[in-house]
Amino acid sequence: MSTIKLIKPYINYEEISADLKKIFLSGQLTKGENVNFFKKSLSDYTGAKFTHLTTSATTALSISLKALNIKEGDHIAVADFSFPATVNVIEDIGAIPVFIDVCIETYNMSVSHLRKSLNEYDIKAVIFVDTFGNPSGLDKIVSICKEYSVKLIEDAACGIGSSLNNQKIGNIADITCFSFHPRKLLTTGEGGAIQTNCEELDKWFEIKLNHGAVSMIEDIPEFVDFGFNFRMSEIQALLGWKQLLKLDEIIKERNYIHKNLTEKIPLKSQKILDNVLHNKQSLVYTVESKVIRDNLIKFLKEKQIESTIGTYCLSGTKYYKEKYNAKCENSTYLQAHTITLPCYKAIDIDLVSSEINSFFK
Ligand SMILES: *Cc1c(COP(=O)(O)O)cnc(C)c1O
Repeated sequence: MSTIKLIKPYINYEEISADLKKIFLSGQLTKGENVNFFKKSLSDYTGAKFTHLTTSATTALSISLKALNIKEGDHIAVADFSFPATVNVIEDIGAIPVFIDVCIETYNMSVSHLRKSLNEYDIKAVIFVDTFGNPSGLDKIVSICKEYSVKLIEDAACGIGSSLNNQKIGNIADITCFSFHPRKLLTTGEGGAIQTNCEELDKWFEIKLNHGAVSMIEDIPEFVDFGFNFRMSEIQALLGWKQLLKLDEIIKERNYIHKNLTEKIPLKSQKILDNVLHNKQSLVYTVESKVIRDNLIKFLKEKQIESTIGTYCLSGTKYYKEKYNAKCENSTYLQAHTITLPCYKAIDIDLVSSEINSFFK
């Protein structure tokens, strides 16, 4: 029996082979029609006016902070239960992370803790995380950011295809950043995207993501600013737009798997509020004890079923703990008590659930 993996990329060689051949024949490996089409497709899909493709969610988040003119010493509120990239981009520019605890059920940024911190510090921007693709509570965070006039960056690394009040993620926060890493629902190998509805930010990204250049006469660039290259290649973009065509179907399928599995096992699923469509990027459950959680991961591994912890309490990781000594109770708890279970079409749900049930017996 082969191992049941956490996730399998939804890529299919037959689906891309003809277009891939076209790329090879044309020799155009970057800045071509696939990049343009993927950008346009992402805007059409989420409704966000502007899309920029990047090399990862990390580079997308990093440049987004710079777009908002975040500087050394500025305070940035950040959801404390996430992958370290979410806070590393703040640290990297010398800004100061203010760790915001999360709601124990949705795993997302706590509104009351955010309000407390907004009153306490001069916060320049907020980074909300769609934890495992779940935007529950984002509407409350949008309101409070408006109330305090602070910009909202959404770390939607896991959030492609999710929606809130029938509005797709990408079209809600001031800036939304996606990841297309293979662990995510839609993958380009490595890659990411930025979406915004702000024309001024769009223009800034266009220049800064292209070495500071604007196209002048006869395609000879004028360098009007300094900038970077965080561009996605043609082959990556091809992979991306092909998966986007079937994303809604994939999400339906994953919701079915989640429902089916959750009914069969004695674990408490991440809570998704009623006004949310969750893409089920990861199926994450809370286990009442850390020892049981750790043993369950070990047990499943012996049964060749891959599982892992949920994600990290950022303020509790060695570097940030030593530097800031902040403490968030719920994210500390969730790092120790959550488990991610595998999810994709070919999975034998009865097998996975019966192994989990046999563990608890
Ligand atoms: C995966 C992930 C990232 C990093 O994405 P990359 O594309 O690998 O840079 C950032 N934030 C969250 C919440 C993630 O899950």
